[in-house]
Amino acid sequence: MSDHQDDIKQTMAREMAEMRLRMGRVRRKWLVLSGKGGVGKSTVAVNLALSLAAMGYEVGLLDVDIHGPSVPKLLGIEDARPTVRDGAIVPMAVAGIKTMSIGFLLQHTDAATIWRGPMKANVIKQFLKDVEWGDLDYLVIDSPPGTGDEPLSVVQLIENADGAVIVTTPQELAVIDVRKAITFCRSVNLPVLGVIENMRGFVCPHCGERTDVFGHGGAEHMAAEMKVPFLGAIPFDPQLVESGDTGQPFTQLHSGSEAAQAFARIVKTLAPSPKAKSDVS
Ligand code: ADP
Repeated sequence: MSDHQDDIKQTMAREMAEMRLRMGRVRRKWLVLSGKGGVGKSTVAVNLALSLAAMGYEVGLLDVDIHGPSVPKLLGIEDARPTVRDGAIVPMAVAGIKTMSIGFLLQHTDAATIWRGPMKANVIKQFLKDVEWGDLDYLVIDSPPGTGDEPLSVVQLIENADGAVIVTTPQELAVIDVRKAITFCRSVNLPVLGVIENMRGFVCPHCGERTDVFGHGGAEHMAAEMKVPFLGAIPFDPQLVESGDTGQPFTQLHSGSEAAQAFARIVKTLAPSPKAKSDVS
């Protein structure tokens, strides 16, 4: 082996060791996945993180959705730029959680399309290795949508992830993609924590009538058929759109809403009660 190859091998081994050290301080890692874009994956990732923080957990939210890094927008920190302290990237502290997004590094939103695979993988690796997350109970990772190379490299880089939360909408076209997402998780040995059906039903704010715009319960049936847990449904809520557009923490501002309560129920299903926090190992 040449000296050059030797150097590369040593650097890779060192980086891996640094990443393991940093990630060793994170007790649970959840990947939020979807079979396709536009189903509310990022919205769900943000609100799961906020709901966990509301339970008293230390929470990090990592956005590695390279083609649509929407966490900065959803949390109203689009203009923020990460700083470096003692050789580590300092995550943004917002709404009680720590967050880092690939969006902070993209000057133009379409820049990601010209990045090649290794560049994307490197930046994700750097977020795991060089961000000073500190001790976290949960790291929620907003992953690229679909079941292609990008989510695959995320899963491969994030060792020992506890599992995936799969987000879908109720209509059949989206549910077909859930099947693919579950098959994807199985092929990479990533446990499926469960499926969330987003945008189920719209309650008219004027007359109170409920309309199932995208159908109803498709994901629930699919989850049963595929033998994975169904975690719950989030209704379509115009306030979620508004909170997302204005960068406000929805579950904090509208904690009494049906949607916020649905998020709270889902995290309670997935996370032990805060009193049992020390049991999380
Ligand atoms: P994805 O990450 O899957 O591409 P986003 O989280 O960016 O999707 O959501 C897409 C759009 O749908 C956003 O405008 C968001 O505000 C909206 N949205 C997501 N979930 C809901 C919901 N339950 N009710 C209303 N709007 C929602």
